Amino acid sequence: MKGKMHAVFKEKPEYGAVYKEVEIPDIGEEQVLIKVESTSICGTDYHIYIWNKWAQENIKPPQIMGHEVAGEVVEVGSRVEKVKKGDFVSSETHIPCGHCYQCQTGQQHICQNMKIFGVHQDGVFAEYAVLEEVDVWKNDPSIPKDFASIQEPLGNAIDTILPGNVAGKDVLITGAGPVGLISVAVARAFGATNILVSEPNEYRRKLSLEMGADHVINPIETNLLTAVDDIFGEKGVDFTAEMSGHPDAIRDGIKAVTGGGIVSLLGLPDDKVKLDLTNDIIFKNIKVVGVTGRKMFSTWHIASNLVKGERIDLSPVITHEFPLKDFEKGMKLMEEGNCGKIILKP
Ligand code: NAD
Ligand code: ZN
Repeated sequence: MKGKMHAVFKEKPEYGAVYKEVEIPDIGEEQVLIKVESTSICGTDYHIYIWNKWAQENIKPPQIMGHEVAGEVVEVGSRVEKVKKGDFVSSETHIPCGHCYQCQTGQQHICQNMKIFGVHQDGVFAEYAVLEEVDVWKNDPSIPKDFASIQEPLGNAIDTILPGNVAGKDVLITGAGPVGLISVAVARAFGATNILVSEPNEYRRKLSLEMGADHVINPIETNLLTAVDDIFGEKGVDFTAEMSGHPDAIRDGIKAVTGGGIVSLLGLPDDKVKLDLTNDIIFKNIKVVGVTGRKMFSTWHIASNLVKGERIDLSPVITHEFPLKDFEKGMKLMEEGNCGKIILKP
């Protein structure tokens, strides 16, 4: 498709990004062009915007930012079979190589040669975007466009909560950023009976209650382990989902789990974290699960079932919406932290 489009560009290796007009990109044989209908900001986009250490090591400007998306297919490559023109789609973010050990054993989400959409190649903060056929996910047309875009972080939440077998269980969620907030709704949908959220930000504690949490605490003011003791008794929680990456939350989240319990770790600490393996993990016989990305595509089936069947309500977590050209307003909110998911509309 020939023509011009607007896009948010990380133009230079420095703080910030620009909104500018560029050519609509060409597609390859195994790619799809979509008209972007909804996109959402992820923490990764914010890190690219502020040009932190990780971004400096991984991003090669100029590049279009963004990876959470929903839109309509307007053109397909000659070898594409998965979708056709007019389909309503989203996209997985991990681009697997297809030939490493993990890819060959059904674990594409942890491919050894992984490329990341919107990190290693142009993304979706634009009027049109190129998706890889391997990553395209066909949406049910009934799903609201904004929910379709945030299925990607919903997938992170699902893969974090699923290993916890939470039905009928006591659950602790540390960190109520967008992914933690979505995890509250997922834990509820999967049958958790009692959910405690630990989060320093007041705005996000309130949102946690709207997403279905039973209790919230501020770990800066209240000792998390004392709160767990008060709410759940000496037993502790059956499962912790760690969604903050903060070392204190990781340590206390593990300590809060009852013997034989389960901990999922999704949050990414900035540095190495010191743990008491002997007393807090080994002697307690607890299971610790590292979580990354989303399984391709069993997680997407669960995400779309939850959204399509209205088993979770994602509306409280979508707190702001801006036209794409005002993306900087979204980045400012990300900096302040008084937000859930922020939608950008081209
Ligand atoms: P976020 O940074 O918006 O949220 C983290 C939240 O943790 C914030 O609300 C913050 O106030 C809170 N927090 C800080 N210190 C805390 C403490 N001591 N106890 C409890 N909460 C505390 O991030 P997000 O986008 O919601 O993602 C959650 C985490 O998961 C981040 O660390 C992110 O890097 C990571 N992540 C990992 C993957 C993966 O594939 N493993 C994917 C997405 C996100
Ligand atoms: Zn691979």
